[in-house]
Amino acid sequence: MQTTFSPTQLADPHVAESEKILRKCVHCGFCTATCPTYVTLGNELDSPRGRIYLIKDMLENGRPADKEIVTHIDRCLSCLSCMTTCPSGVNYMHLVDHARAHIEQTYKRPLVDRLIRQVLAFTLPYPRRFRAALSLAKLGRPFAGLLAGMSALKPLTAMLKLAPASVPAASPVSRPGRHVANGERRGRVALLTGCAQSVLEPGINEATVRLLNRLGVEVVVPEGEGCCGALVHHMGKEDAALAAARKNVDAWVRQIEQGGLDAIVITASGCGTTIKDYGFMLRFDPAYAEKAARVSALAKDITEFLATLDLPEPSVKPCLTVAYHSACSMQHGQKITRQPKELLARAGFVVKEPREGHLCCGSAGTYNILQPEISARLRDRKVKNIEATGAALVATGNIGCITQIASTAKLPVVHTVALLDWAYGGPKPKGIAPPHATAQ
Ligand code: SF4
Ligand code: SF4
Repeated sequence: MQTTFSPTQLADPHVAESEKILRKCVHCGFCTATCPTYVTLGNELDSPRGRIYLIKDMLENGRPADKEIVTHIDRCLSCLSCMTTCPSGVNYMHLVDHARAHIEQTYKRPLVDRLIRQVLAFTLPYPRRFRAALSLAKLGRPFAGLLAGMSALKPLTAMLKLAPASVPAASPVSRPGRHVANGERRGRVALLTGCAQSVLEPGINEATVRLLNRLGVEVVVPEGEGCCGALVHHMGKEDAALAAARKNVDAWVRQIEQGGLDAIVITASGCGTTIKDYGFMLRFDPAYAEKAARVSALAKDITEFLATLDLPEPSVKPCLTVAYHSACSMQHGQKITRQPKELLARAGFVVKEPREGHLCCGSAGTYNILQPEISARLRDRKVKNIEATGAALVATGNIGCITQIASTAKLPVVHTVALLDWAYGGPKPKGIAPPHATAQ
């Protein structure tokens, strides 16, 4: 694609980066066929190619964002399916991240939209605040129906509907500490305990620690780590995202220097995509660029890390058919497609892949709150495809997808690592009815 940025514009390194990305796009439109919003809405402006044109026009003309571009960029899930499809290697992720930051700096959203985004940015990344917000949401739930009629308050209704009826107690695994390997130590990793996941489903990190310890891997939960910053990053709140990234880089670099790390293990693929991008996000910060690149290189999804270990024979044989839902951040963001399925099959599960596996379930961070209608259409399509497999349960590697799919699916939705922990000697995950396993 030809561009006409001036030398002055290109002196801004963010613009220069976006220009490089834009020039790679050859307008072929292959990406439109696999874009969930284009598939759902059928509007070229809600396709990757359409959004690329809108972003180009906004940046080239040095214009503040307007209502039209905000509408179509807000509808983008950042699922990155377009990046998997694109034959020209267009880095849509970095382009849309730049566009979102530009929108945040130049566009004044309507008051209610601004307030809802502020509330999300203030609560979701902080487990204590998020826990308190979920308790409040329980009180507000009976009013969800009333609010549904007010279009400006649809995100609030979606928030109330998504809030679980009860919140599990906080897990000791979420606190900073060291979990010593059983037997001879074969490795040492840091675990990102995360923000929303540690509140909604603390059992995921508990299963991870148990499994890794049994496999001889010491797990540290470093003092000072917190939310990866993805939630605010996708809202264009760059300063907040970079502050979160720096805090984590500091916490993990301390661990690298003190005891060495074989990996930084992440159990939510949405966080993994962002942490693997820290090196890029902090590239202009001389104090952090090198450290952030080291951290990104060490970041591994739990299945990616487990696949590097020499696993024993499973201790139970779970006679179950599992529909594996590959989160967008797993398959498109991190290009991890093989390992979760292979690990599940090796552990004795029969793995089925639902149709249209490349399409997002509509969760996408805060998307199911901010764009509830498109999100619900994508969720229903996803659940229909999953249920058509005839599987007994769903396995996936991202808390957002678990919450989204479980909100309507009739079958249990379980994190992949919880199933692996079970097969290798841990407790059976909640919600799976007996009898399903035979001892080996
Ligand atoms: S990130 Fe997903 S929703 Fe956004 S343009 Fe690409 S394919 Fe479409
Ligand atoms: S597939 Fe790639 S090159 Fe083709 S229109 Fe989409 S982004 Fe551009």
